[in-house]
Amino acid sequence: MQRKYIVVTGGVLSGLGKGIAMASIGNILSSSYEVVPIKCDGYLNVDPGTMNPIEHGEVFVLDDGGEVDMDFGHYERFLGVTCKSDSNLTMGRVFNDILNKERRGEFLGQTVQMVPHVSEFIQDYLVDKVEGSGADVGLIEIGGTVGDMENELYLHAVKHLPRRVGRENVVFAHLTYVPVLSGVNEQKSKPTQMAIAEMGQRGIEPDIIIARCESMLSDNVRGKIARSAGLNPEDVITGLDVNDVYDIPMVFERQGMSQLLARKLDIPVRADLGEWARLVENKRNFSGEVNVALAGKYMNLEDSYASIVEALNHCSAHYGTKINIDFIDTESGLDGIEKASGVIVPGGFGSRGLEGKIVAAKYCRENKVPYLGICLGLQTAVVEYARNVCGLEGANTVEVDAGTKYPVIDIMESQKDIKNKGGTMRLGSYEAVVEEGSKINKLYGSVDVRERHRHRFEVNPEYHDVLRDKGLRLSGMSPDGKLVEFVELDDHPYFVATQGHPELKSSLLAPAPLFRGFVEACINYEGKK
Ligand code: GLN
Repeated sequence: MQRKYIVVTGGVLSGLGKGIAMASIGNILSSSYEVVPIKCDGYLNVDPGTMNPIEHGEVFVLDDGGEVDMDFGHYERFLGVTCKSDSNLTMGRVFNDILNKERRGEFLGQTVQMVPHVSEFIQDYLVDKVEGSGADVGLIEIGGTVGDMENELYLHAVKHLPRRVGRENVVFAHLTYVPVLSGVNEQKSKPTQMAIAEMGQRGIEPDIIIARCESMLSDNVRGKIARSAGLNPEDVITGLDVNDVYDIPMVFERQGMSQLLARKLDIPVRADLGEWARLVENKRNFSGEVNVALAGKYMNLEDSYASIVEALNHCSAHYGTKINIDFIDTESGLDGIEKASGVIVPGGFGSRGLEGKIVAAKYCRENKVPYLGICLGLQTAVVEYARNVCGLEGANTVEVDAGTKYPVIDIMESQKDIKNKGGTMRLGSYEAVVEEGSKINKLYGSVDVRERHRHRFEVNPEYHDVLRDKGLRLSGMSPDGKLVEFVELDDHPYFVATQGHPELKSSLLAPAPLFRGFVEACINYEGKK
């Protein structure tokens, strides 16, 4: 089959859910084809690893250790694929590569210019990545909104894709917005028409328009939009507002997205959304509720814990249980924790709020409340255990207290001299050998487990035996036995923590095992109340 390309752009305003729209198109295609998602971001950071999660949302980590935009979370969850870090192209990376190439003299004395050099670099990059992946369809998302200065070079580049790979092999899908004016209660097509014109000025004629709107587009508005783009009304899809983004593939499919893609790409497309739709429905028809306390910081932006929220969401569908998430900012106390059916201490950096998390871990351990510690949440549990069970008063993580008498969490030797931020952590997928018969073993159904990591500190090997002797089960270790990957308590319904980030590999069809175990424990806890 001839390789196909779908380029997704956005107009009118940001935050319309381009990542979800693209992931939903991918979801529909993925039952018939292998799809590779690629994202082009306009910012000048070489990767998002050093970007503040308050501003930018969670840093998503891939198997290969790449720190990428959180849209990759949507792609992996919706497409069931494992992405590679070179699928996230940033303008910082583009310029970095171009300038390195120039310094190496590879431009042979030419004047290096935005056009053609930068534009061609991007074109080559996109085609190489899609071809190199072996996928049937390359899905390319251009970040930002058309008209943003920082994305102009990407638009210039994709305009040339049809010439490079054949017009019949490229589909441009443009996501726009149709506001409904209050009072008159009327859908307004003008912003979308203008967004289409903006694309036209850049030499790109969209083949599909997805118009985000709070209601289904009227025939009149759909027709107007279609005419202004030189399209048929069937080429215009309503990107209906929904409460649950997992509904979007069905919203698209009900409007004939698979036939539309088949027609535009000239390939057969058969969507298979049965199991997906059943799980989404299960979430709505829940029986019973649990309250999960998420004890962290950055609480003003749920996005910084997006994958954890998603992993709980997947469990909610799996168990048909409503999961209410209570965000607790441990810097200002633990108010409300007694309502929790279970507590998650998520990943995090720095000292803010750590003492509060330690109290939360103690509360869960002593009161037999389900506890799931993720990365910093494992370190928290270990510090708490060292202090309150092993009697190591003042034990701490070196990240917070460099002079602590009992450095139970310490920096790894191999990381000590790294000053440069970005890519200096234990990043990506690592293997753990899990103790047979442990909870971890049962949950994963395996003794050989892989999860993704993003951290600098580790449980200090000098304290492994002290912790073990006092009853903390170090139930998963790195294959060389040096690094603690999982801990658990025997005499507790669910006190489990991991140095990895299992939420990053969770999906609707296959929720992360540690989250499944946690939610099941929360349900049992509620049942026993
Ligand atoms: N700050 C801790 C470390 O670097 C934990 C990081 C995390 O939770 N992702 O080891």
